[in-house]
Amino acid sequence: VRPDLRAAAREAGELARAMTRKVLLAGLPFGGGKAVVLGDPRHDKTAARWTALGRAIERLEGRYWTGEDSGTTPADMDAIGRVCRYVLGRSGGAGDLGPMTARGALHGIEAAVRHRLGGAGLAGLRVAVQGLGAVGMPLAGLLAAAGARLLVADLDPARVEAAVERLGARALPPGEIQEAEADLLVPCALGPVFEAAGLDGLRCALIAGPANNQLDRWETAERLHRRGILFVPDYVVSAGGVIAATAELEPGGFSPERVRDRLTGIGERVRTILDEAAAAGLPPLAVAEALAARLRRVRLSAATARRGDHAALPAGALAC
Ligand code: NAD
Repeated sequence: VRPDLRAAAREAGELARAMTRKVLLAGLPFGGGKAVVLGDPRHDKTAARWTALGRAIERLEGRYWTGEDSGTTPADMDAIGRVCRYVLGRSGGAGDLGPMTARGALHGIEAAVRHRLGGAGLAGLRVAVQGLGAVGMPLAGLLAAAGARLLVADLDPARVEAAVERLGARALPPGEIQEAEADLLVPCALGPVFEAAGLDGLRCALIAGPANNQLDRWETAERLHRRGILFVPDYVVSAGGVIAATAELEPGGFSPERVRDRLTGIGERVRTILDEAAAAGLPPLAVAEALAARLRRVRLSAATARRGDHAALPAGALAC
């Protein structure tokens, strides 16, 4: 694959916008940002690359912090951290953010299931999981433990095999998972997953998962809404990673118990957004966007009042 700088820059911008909404709705005192590194995580990780990235982030002097996301690990954060102070999710800190993102997503999914499908919870529901990576695999485990009947797909056959053996999941080819006959679709691969023109084959009632930037554009949320499919905004469901990572910056540092407790807030936010959307007859994304815009205005005016300019805004935080 030829490195495509323009596409990477566009993706970084889109992911940064999503991070801004994610941290605002999670109630975290930061802005949003994202770094995208060109390369194949299976072959192209080198010390020189991490050093270059670390030096670039260090030059921003804390206006941007980085953290683990798709394709990176705590060991990679350790490597960046050798030349950079502004790194979260190192092995001595919050560590692997995948399981915490998964747990947060589970709270969001449970709230969405209660809202859309009634009180019986996940037991017996057919749940299609797309992607079994750092987040998808632990999330599949949590869903199976809650009694869901899993359908799974991944580009990596070994991951699919592990889910079949350990979780009793049924494997589907990657090209079929989105249109599987399932109650709930849980995107855990890479976005965009849904395109406005490609929704006809969907057969689920509900989409709720932690993959970032699942929709190709805003109109896709409208179309899903008109088709009667409840799409839960991904930046609400996927906040567990950044909630966990930024806990490192609190007095006393990262504490798994405190973070686990805080992850339940994702379920409460999903419930509030879905209730408000249902009452107004709007797609949940419209409600989440309006809420994020309101919170952003409040944050900006508070910062302006404090310092007379936007430089008072807290540092941007990256991570999942
Ligand atoms: P990962 O790279 O560890 O895993 C992604 C998995 O998806 C891989 O196993 C890959 O083979 C599979 N995949 C890719 N394309 C696929 C396709 N078309 N069909 C089926 N499987 C496919 O990534 P991750 O860290 O698990 O992140 C997954 C998603 O969640 C990403 O969108 C990421 O940005 C988002 N996210 C991650 C975190 C985190 O803490 N890692 C936090 C929040 C959000």
